[in-house]
Amino acid sequence: MNLKNNNFNENVVNVDVLVIGGGSAGTMAALAARRQGLDVALVDKAGIDRSGCGAAGNDHFLAVLDTGPDWDTNEAFMTWYHRLTQGLVDMNIPPKVYLSRIKNLLKYLEELGVPMREDTENDAYIRTGSFGQPGEYFINFDGRNLKPTISKEAKKIGVKFFRRINIVDLLVNETGVIGAVGFDIRKGDFYVFLAKATIVATGNVTRFYNNQASMPYNSWHSPYNNGGAQAMAFRAGAEIKNMEFVNYTLTPVNFSASALNAIVGMGGYIVNGLGERFLFKYHEKGEKGPRWIMPWGVYWELKEGRGPCYFDLRHLSEEDLNHLINNLLPVDKNTFLDYCEQKGVDVRNDLMEVQISEGQLPAFLGSVSGINITPECETTIPGLFAGGACTVAVGSLSGSMCVGDTAGEEAAKYVLSGGGGRLEISPETVQGMKQSIFKHLANMDGLKPCELEEKLRQVMTLYVGIGRSKMGLEAAQAELNKLGNLLITAKTENLHELMRLFEFRDLLEVSKAVVRGALEREESRFGISHYRGDFPESRKEWHCSLHQKLEKGQIILKRVEPYNL
Ligand SMILES: Cc1cc2nc3c(=O)[nH]c(=O)nc-3n(C[C@H](O)[C@H](O)[C@H](O)COP(=O)(O)OP(=O)(O)OC[C@H]3O[C@@H](n4cnc5c(N)ncnc54)[C@H](O)[C@@H]3O)c2cc1C
Repeated sequence: MNLKNNNFNENVVNVDVLVIGGGSAGTMAALAARRQGLDVALVDKAGIDRSGCGAAGNDHFLAVLDTGPDWDTNEAFMTWYHRLTQGLVDMNIPPKVYLSRIKNLLKYLEELGVPMREDTENDAYIRTGSFGQPGEYFINFDGRNLKPTISKEAKKIGVKFFRRINIVDLLVNETGVIGAVGFDIRKGDFYVFLAKATIVATGNVTRFYNNQASMPYNSWHSPYNNGGAQAMAFRAGAEIKNMEFVNYTLTPVNFSASALNAIVGMGGYIVNGLGERFLFKYHEKGEKGPRWIMPWGVYWELKEGRGPCYFDLRHLSEEDLNHLINNLLPVDKNTFLDYCEQKGVDVRNDLMEVQISEGQLPAFLGSVSGINITPECETTIPGLFAGGACTVAVGSLSGSMCVGDTAGEEAAKYVLSGGGGRLEISPETVQGMKQSIFKHLANMDGLKPCELEEKLRQVMTLYVGIGRSKMGLEAAQAELNKLGNLLITAKTENLHELMRLFEFRDLLEVSKAVVRGALEREESRFGISHYRGDFPESRKEWHCSLHQKLEKGQIILKRVEPYNL
């Protein structure tokens, strides 16, 4: 195949519902829409059966079950979630997309054979609480095979799978979003998907900050989620919000396992170099406080010379240690115990050094950033729905799955009630999109995607990382604009690099939105998520969401008051 002659096959696929991103949320969305009898395409740049963040590592399933105690109720959950998100998430969303669905989702997964009951003697759930929860919302479970299980179901009921298609952009005409275009990352075939409703579900954003090991693919969440949905939706005119709040966590040093939920959920401590449990200085609940408190506390301990910091599990009971070591850590990361062995750390007797992870957006439950959606998972453009970690809705695994389910169901309703724009787009527009993708294979000069991406990470880590200032953010803006110019002439030598190039383009788009939001928001909030050294306190006038959208090439900003319970 001559990659330089742009002579790739063209495929046009017509469906009722197009789902972009076949992860936990996208697969649920496809299942829900297909159950309504619609023709559904599920498209992913990976293999779908084991793609995205749900592919491995999930060991905590957030669920409100109404088992009796006050904390196990919808009301208690809402109070906690409202406090956690500081009112920056629309409180009409969780009841509709999460609370009304979670018990059914749990039942469904158990029927499919996902092992949820780790207390095998009593055939019961083991539940733990963390991150400021009023009780024990996290069912400990073995999620290693969850993703292939739901993919198999989607296939079985007739969802059409399109694997290894990198979606590059949405198709938009005067009636709204009518599909998307992309290319096969192995063969190069060009794909045009036309759909009455389109759902974006490409997960979170990784690979735009350096981690301490300087290995971009050694990221805590899937390194192949690069803000595709957020960037595509934004380019098409949809609103995104609160992009300035980048999330961090703690990981074992030079290792990308999250583990934090398992460790603090089981009662583990975090201590500084003086052996002190220091987190109570930063939050009354210490290790049981919100997740962002932990990197925030570690940041200050290190800065003020009380590092390094460690996980300390030595006080846990034998029973709790066994559960952690046998059921949680190796599920969280298959190689967790190998890491311990190679580091010479025996968690029963030794401290385990921790570090602050790379920034991601979003990274955990309680994030307030992403595509702005209604409780029906509609974006601000007709025909475009969104689900999962790319949206501002209840996050995490079970949250993303419930939101995906809602998006699929609502998109189907939209189609069945006659919604959907005119599925017409001029051949010139489509050819123009095709040319703009494949031209990079013919470019002889210019930088390669990996070089551009490396520069992006440097800029974001240096100026938009932990501790921000007006001058630094303006410097970042200038540097990101230069990278935008270099993108036009970037060269790629094969289809894999072509995919990397479009990942870079989305990362750049998201990075610009992060910088713009961070510049505007003259305050600090959520710890190191957005810490402005020149405005180090949270300010009343900034207790609001910041929305961004693109209109005629200009970014329009809007402040939205916090939501009440
Ligand atoms: C190791 C690990 C452990 C975790 N543990 C837990 C846990 O215990 N409990 C919990 O609640 N949460 C946990 N999470 C988070 C949870 O898995 C995610 O919140 C959830 O899976 C998000 O679902 P999603 O569908 O939005 O994104 P994903 O499942 O990540 O799916 C996104 C999909 O989009 C595809 N994609 C991306 N860009 C494109 C593009 N341009 N074109 C086509 N396809 C594209 C990707 O290939 C991927 O398949 C964990 C995550 C990881 C990585």
